[in-house]
Amino acid sequence: MSLTGAYDPANIFARILKGEIPAVKVWEDDDVLAFMDVFPQSEGHVLVISKTSRARNLLEVEPEVLATLAAATQRTARAVAKALSPEGFSIMQFNGEAGGQTVFHLHFHIIPRWADRPLKGHGHAPMADADVLRSLAERIAAALD
Ligand code: AMP
Repeated sequence: MSLTGAYDPANIFARILKGEIPAVKVWEDDDVLAFMDVFPQSEGHVLVISKTSRARNLLEVEPEVLATLAAATQRTARAVAKALSPEGFSIMQFNGEAGGQTVFHLHFHIIPRWADRPLKGHGHAPMADADVLRSLAERIAAALD
């Protein structure tokens, strides 16, 4: 899918927002949802999405939604850092199929990093155990300010 085109209301994150498929939620409010990536590239990989915008990528997002998402990503990253004590973390955001994007509802990845743990490939990581994800989500949620 290219950078141009229409938002697909049946994309997997839209379906999560509608409650049609489950997600392991970390936190949410009226504007954003933070939830665990089911194919985590490292332990504690969290995604942050807007509940209100139909932007597929960074080019389309409304500036005020982007500001809200940035603040939510920072808040979540702080909780990830406090809960899991990574040595670093990567914020990733992909645009268009050629840019590595696979789900066309704008999202930010928070990926904790440890020097001695190689990052699993984007789109190639194995599915995580749901109980493990729930436990990580609880630890991260407990560390939210
Ligand atoms: P991107 O390739 O940047 O569009 O990222 C999409 C991300 O969504 C990938 O890291 C996938 O592992 C993740 N993902 C796909 N399906 C689900 C799902 N049902 N629940 C949580 N994460 C998902």
